[in-house]
Amino acid sequence: MLQIEKLLPGYNCGECGLSSCREFAVKLVDVAGLDRCTILKQERFLGRAEQIAGLLACSEKTEDIIGVLDGLRAEFALAPLPGEPSCREDLHPFNPEAHLKEGDIFRYRLLGRPITHFAKVLKNKQGIVTVHLVGPGHLLQGLPAPEDIGL
Ligand code: SF4
Repeated sequence: MLQIEKLLPGYNCGECGLSSCREFAVKLVDVAGLDRCTILKQERFLGRAEQIAGLLACSEKTEDIIGVLDGLRAEFALAPLPGEPSCREDLHPFNPEAHLKEGDIFRYRLLGRPITHFAKVLKNKQGIVTVHLVGPGHLLQGLPAPEDIGL
């Protein structure tokens, strides 16, 4: 995604229907999607368009990611921000008793999703809790079960 972003025109003009070239790079899944960037069709960007097409062709050859529980192919995979150990989520807990502070590890479930998540609090500001996902690995280390805050 970063390689593709560097090759895009960088105008952040929104012609593609997205707010920035970065967002376009994130959502681009195949060569056909390149048509949405009208700027790339200009002659001076044709070389870059070809490079992007090459990168997309490589990524299409990678193995599909199949969900363990539902058996469905993932349309995208989340990745950590550069330099971070895992993905972030911003949460708004429904539980008024959830007093989460920096460093706390807890478990929760996203509304409408069946999977329990485990996360570590990065910050808790104005009711929005920013976390790193940690997975349940610490349970295997004999540490106490983390607080379950529900939805
Ligand atoms: S149309 Fe192209 S240049 Fe404009 S924001 Fe989208 S990707 Fe960037």
